[in-house]
Parts: sequence; C-alpha cells; structure tokens
Amino acid sequence: MIAKTLAGMLLFAGLCQAAQAREYRYSDAHLHYVDFFQESEGMPALLKAMDEAGVEHSMISGIPVAKKWHEDEPKRPRYYAGDDADAYWYSATDTYVAAALQKLPAEQRKRFHPFLSGFNPVDKNAVSHIERMLDLHPGLWQGIGEVFTRHDDLTALTSGDTPRANNEAMTRIYHLAAERDMPVLVHSNITSKRERNPLYLAEIEEPLRNHPHTRFIWAHAGSSVEIHRHQTHMDFLLPVLTRLLEDYPNLYVDLSWSVLAPYLLDEQGVPRKAWVDLVAKYPERFMLGSDVVGRFGSLGEQMHGFEPFLDALPEAVANKVARDNFLAVLPRQR
Ligand SMILES: [Zn+2]
Repeated sequence: MIAKTLAGMLLFAGLCQAAQAREYRYSDAHLHYVDFFQESEGMPALLKAMDEAGVEHSMISGIPVAKKWHEDEPKRPRYYAGDDADAYWYSATDTYVAAALQKLPAEQRKRFHPFLSGFNPVDKNAVSHIERMLDLHPGLWQGIGEVFTRHDDLTALTSGDTPRANNEAMTRIYHLAAERDMPVLVHSNITSKRERNPLYLAEIEEPLRNHPHTRFIWAHAGSSVEIHRHQTHMDFLLPVLTRLLEDYPNLYVDLSWSVLAPYLLDEQGVPRKAWVDLVAKYPERFMLGSDVVGRFGSLGEQMHGFEPFLDALPEAVANKVARDNFLAVLPRQR
C-alpha cells in the first residue's frame, strides 16, 4: 500500500515536471530565402521546416549580393568565401521574395514579415530605389535589411566601396525607415578578424545616436564566426553591448548563431549567467534568428539550439525572446 502510494507520488511528481517543461513558439528574426547565388530550396521546404520547428512567424529577406562565377575560377563556387571572385549588389533578390510570398494563401502569408535588402548601401540613391520598391508592392515590406556592412571577408570581396553602417547613403535610409515605421536589420561587425578591440563600434553607434526614431536590429550583436575563429571570445562584447542597450532604447539585438556559442552558452553548453542577466534586464530587446540561407533543413536545429539559454531565463522573458520581441519591432500598421 505504502509502495503503491509512493509510486503514485513519484508519477505525480514526474507529470508535474513534464508540465513544467516549456514548449516555446518561435519567431525567426533573421532568415534568407535565397543563398549567395540567389537560389532557394523553395517555399514548401521552408514552410515544412517552420512547422516542424515550431516557428510561427519569420522575417524573410533575400541576399543583397550575388557571388560571381568568374571565368578564372576552375569550379563553380559553393559559398561566397569559396574563391577569389567578387560579389555584387543584386536588387532582383527582393523580387524573388515578393513572388514567393504572393503565391501563398493569405493564412500562410501572414506568418512572413518581408524585409527589403537588394540595394547598394554605399549609393546615396539607394533610398530612392527603396521608395520605388515600397510603391511597387504596397503594404508588403515590413522592414529593411539584412544590410551587409562590415561582414568579414565578404566586405573585401564585394565590388565597390566598403559599406559602413554610418555612411551617407545609410543615413538617408534610416530616415526613411523612421518615416515608414520600419525596423532595419544591420550586419555590422564590431571589429575585424584580428583586432582584439571594438575597431568598428563607432560605425554602428553613430546611427544609433543620430536616429533615435529608427529601430535597429543589430545582427549577431556585431559578432561573427569568422572573428571567433581568429580571436575566440571577445571579452569586450558584453560590456559594450550592456552600455549600448542602456544608452540607446532604439537598439534591438539578434542573437543568432555566432552569439549563441560562445557567448550565450559556454564550452559545456551551459548558459552564461552574465548573458542571462543582461537579457533578463532588457526583456524586450533580444530576439532569435536562424540566419539560414536558401536551404531550410537546419532551421529547427538552429532555433532549438537556443533552448538551454531560454530555459535559464524567467519564463515570461523567454517567451518574449523566442517569439514576441520580433513581432513587437515590426511596423505598428501592417
Ligand atoms: Zn544573415
């Protein structure tokens, strides 16, 4: 009898624990429908991956550059960093995104939040191109980006001038974004591959300061896998980010992959307390992204990789980070 009661109690405790296990629903704040060759696995594959991963909403953008297959290269490259050929600004990318969405039934379409990315961020005329695209697809675009500025070797491989987040062309785009109530997702590495200091910080900080009415989503919090390869952990990232969040309420942070490891999680996969505390202190300012490019098989793996970190946050904060914060940064009228 006692044994039976004990077994019952254990079963009850087990059920409670199972009930406590959190089931997150996600928004993916950083997704590319195409790759660096402007190719995509297609919408059915993307929807399947989203459904399987519990991703309810997704930002969707193209890739603003196309990698050239140069006649000097013996094989067709498989990635932008695969050989010495350059990449060039490629506006048709937005057409592919728009066409893919327009084919969807309304129910599926409303899960996607398209961002416009196919413009040259060093051309002061880019803002006019963006305005034409907004007019061409009324009500479609909900944000701008991912804008590629400082981006490891891609910066050097891209034809034309080095794009900076604080150049004059981008200034005009930030004004338009504020006017249209659109967030801007900017990839702007905090430093180069080898400098162990925030070499390029001013390039992202200046627009944050000068455009208080523009909502900025900082891709990967300025980190990258390539920087990590050369200098492992950037000790200055957390203090810098802490200061920026304090100083600029218009700053939002995309935590996608190069932030997850090694920053959110340590080498053992354990959440780092300092990062948990920072996210909990600014519960509305962080969001998750897969940063998949054109192929969607790893979407679930990318998003579920955040689970140990989310589990370390208070549940209400975790749900905001997993799903709600991205939706809150979109235009109010949409
Ligand atoms: Zn990206």
